[in-house]
Amino acid sequence: MRKKIIAGNWKMNKTPSEAAELAAAIVKNSAGAGCDVVVCPTAVCLPGVVEKTSGSNVEVGAQNVHFMESGAYTGELAANMLTDIGVKYVIIGHSERRQYFGETDETVNLRTKAALSGGLLPIVCVGESLTERENGVTSETVCRQVKLAFLGIDKADAEKVVIAYEPVWAIGTGKTATAEQADEVCGIIRGTIGSLYGEDAAEKIRIQYGGSMNAGNAAELLSKPNIDGGLIGGASLKADDFDVIVKAAEQN
Ligand code: PEP
Repeated sequence: MRKKIIAGNWKMNKTPSEAAELAAAIVKNSAGAGCDVVVCPTAVCLPGVVEKTSGSNVEVGAQNVHFMESGAYTGELAANMLTDIGVKYVIIGHSERRQYFGETDETVNLRTKAALSGGLLPIVCVGESLTERENGVTSETVCRQVKLAFLGIDKADAEKVVIAYEPVWAIGTGKTATAEQADEVCGIIRGTIGSLYGEDAAEKIRIQYGGSMNAGNAAELLSKPNIDGGLIGGASLKADDFDVIVKAAEQN
């Protein structure tokens, strides 16, 4: 039985003091939660959010990590800088990074390997664009993204990764994949992991759905057999909405 994981991607929102306040509210709401709860603020907010969540069951994730250990990479953050302050997870390959910051399948793979060797748990995002869905290449697209993201990663490490299936057309648009569409693609992703690492790895790996998940639709999405949690953008910025999603994960 896979433990569900609900992660909030706060994107470029909240000042450090606002982030600390939101984190405190989520800690209060999530006490004793029966699923994993992760919040991912901007880099500058990480220390304050780690402090507010310390001793609670809420873990903290970064929104990106560089693939080199140190050096002349202005503006970047290395895995050991994140683990040193108590960060546990990192989002890798979010579609906004692929779209606006030149992230490719190759850099997603490099970042995933760097995260794992640096002791972070990657949340690797994959998902098709609207054009890809409309042209019937959703399956090929996500299979390619998954296979390239996991290149050179052994089974023990692969099982630590969380995959977030995020159809690009559903992110921040208010358009959600139906629970059936989301479950179908999460199943295809699980099958891809099975072909790479075997059935037991496929059964273990956690696959989230992301894309306009909210307090109203979370329960249905999270009730599907291949959906092990959610990566939530907009709705994660409101402690009460996020809490409804956490509670839906506990019950499904
Ligand atoms: C996301 O940023 O990963 C996301 C799914 O955003 P939203 O929930 O706002 O669609």
